[in-house]
Amino acid sequence: MLVCTGCAKTMLITIRMRVAGREIVFHRCSKCEANTWQDDAGVLSLTEVLDLARAPH
Ligand SMILES: [Zn+2]
Repeated sequence: MLVCTGCAKTMLITIRMRVAGREIVFHRCSKCEANTWQDDAGVLSLTEVLDLARAPH
């Protein structure tokens, strides 16, 4: 399990989703509401995720 890097306490909620054919993992802290996105290659910025979602399928 991953622990939030923001508050260093709360276990992150993990949601797997597929965006433009790529497996993306979304982590969210229920306490401080920090969000992170990850794929196989590492951490993605929100901008990168939005770009993927916008890309033609
Ligand atoms: Zn947190």
